[in-house]
Amino acid sequence: MYHYVRKNSSNLPYLKYLHIEDFKKQLDYFEKKFGFVKKDEFLNTFKNGKIPNGVVLTFDDGLKDHYKYVLPELKKRGLWGIFYINYNPSERNKLLGPHRIHMLLGKFGGKKIFTSLTKIVLKKMIVKEYQKKFETKTYKDFKDEDSATETKRILNYYISEKYREGLVDKLMQKYYPNEKKLVKKYYLNSKEIKKMQFAGMIFGAHTVNHPVMSKLSEKAQEKEIYPCFKFLEDILDNNIRTYCHPYGGSLSFNKTTLKILKKSGSLFSLDVKPRDVSKKDIKYNKHSLPRYDCNLFPFGQIRSLV
Ligand SMILES: [Zn+2]
Repeated sequence: MYHYVRKNSSNLPYLKYLHIEDFKKQLDYFEKKFGFVKKDEFLNTFKNGKIPNGVVLTFDDGLKDHYKYVLPELKKRGLWGIFYINYNPSERNKLLGPHRIHMLLGKFGGKKIFTSLTKIVLKKMIVKEYQKKFETKTYKDFKDEDSATETKRILNYYISEKYREGLVDKLMQKYYPNEKKLVKKYYLNSKEIKKMQFAGMIFGAHTVNHPVMSKLSEKAQEKEIYPCFKFLEDILDNNIRTYCHPYGGSLSFNKTTLKILKKSGSLFSLDVKPRDVSKKDIKYNKHSLPRYDCNLFPFGQIRSLV
């Protein structure tokens, strides 16, 4: 599993990403150590239950990085990958939730964003059980790394759901007044997606808004999954249905999600448990297949300028 793959940019000194040169080295390593699974061989697994040996590459979040840096490298090596994207990413007005946080922290660092955030949080916005924790945290003088962690914790856990987006809107208006323009540079557009499919890549759905699905009702979950499949089918020919859980891990989705995926005709769906796919998985666990993060292998360490 890969996310950001790019060159360093002085514009985003705190952003954590995998450098394209490390990506190339990791591909060399995989080639030598495990080899890559051919696309047909991989897809046949879901018909005959036979699991081929080797690596399958996956890329999440529909990032422009995947067109700019990953695609040329895969083409050069005759490789393919599965790319999970959200609904019509390049035509949105706002970045997806996690990416807004990455851009805020990546450019301005944890300290600055933490200070700005705590200034605009009102007591009524905090979930009751976290109120004390929040108050003691705001008096502490954190280092950049710790304040980045705290910023995420406040937004993901301390703030009640209905205030979260409004708070991040305020931060974005302050630090990225032209978010729509950023969106265009950030995500793959339909033309790029089509070109990538032509080069042998597979595309899968990663929901409309990248939410924590387990928090949503069945109806709301369906509205996250179906339009995303539909979007891909409208722009691509003969694309198989496959899905990838946003965030991943057993807390991020639930039985309802799995039920919808079965009903949707998704051929397989990916999660993030770090282990190999087994025969049993293909038989009983097709909608939460395990997957390794690239940082668990040599050259896969993410870095930042600072
Ligand atoms: Zn994601």
